Amino acid sequence: MNNLIADSESSIRLAIFLGMFLLLAVAEVLFPRRKPVYSKPKRWLSNLTISALNTLVVRISFPIAGVAAALLAQDRQWGLLNQLPIAAWLNIIMFLLLFDLAIYWQHRLFHVVPWLWRFHRMHHTDVDYDLTTGNRFHPVSILISAAIKIALVIGLGASAAAILIAEVLLNVTAMFNHSNLKLPEGVDRILRIILVTPDMHRIHHSTDSIEHNANFGFNFPWWDRIFGSYIDQPKATHDTIDIGIAGFQDQESIDIFPLLIQPFKNPAT
Ligand SMILES: [Zn+2]
Ligand SMILES: [Zn+2]
Repeated sequence: MNNLIADSESSIRLAIFLGMFLLLAVAEVLFPRRKPVYSKPKRWLSNLTISALNTLVVRISFPIAGVAAALLAQDRQWGLLNQLPIAAWLNIIMFLLLFDLAIYWQHRLFHVVPWLWRFHRMHHTDVDYDLTTGNRFHPVSILISAAIKIALVIGLGASAAAILIAEVLLNVTAMFNHSNLKLPEGVDRILRIILVTPDMHRIHHSTDSIEHNANFGFNFPWWDRIFGSYIDQPKATHDTIDIGIAGFQDQESIDIFPLLIQPFKNPAT
């Protein structure tokens, strides 16, 4: 089982990414939530090029991937979950919960530590909000996240299946909850019991500072409710809410090169 996961990790991830991307891209056209402000092909080219660049940067910089780290931890009996006499499925569930909780706090940290915010800010300076926003992260913030992920896998003692599921889930939900998709109100309400929905996470991308400092969750919506950072609905309507960061509304927030140097150029806001 572990060998199978290690051998087919990249193909599984790529196939699920492409399938979900196509599905959401079509759904966004059929049921759009908001009218895009800027040219979609230009934004998509930038956001997807940055996403591809991030994959490359992580592969080059990290000699060990999540699955390989999990196999190593299991082999050496490292990490909390490897010490507990629990079934494989429980290892997966416990890791998914603890991993998502850690990512919630990592996200909050990226908002309060000024130099971390400069790198995370690029995700927020997207002038529109659609599934490609979910793949738009500065390479430096991706490298920091990758290091934290490896530390969590080893420290918590995730199984290979657990980290693979966690990574795939994160990738899929990031595209889903950033999508420009209009879900019926009742569906959003039911989904929001277990999952961060597009309407929930869009509030975090509002230019309004109170809304912007809320709804940090990635997969599960519970952490925001538990730690008091949950906002149910924006002050404006979902189709008129202003997206982005004040002062970053022009071409500099779309073209690839200005985006990559954005953290080094502008003062932290
Ligand atoms: Zn954020
Ligand atoms: Zn986001």
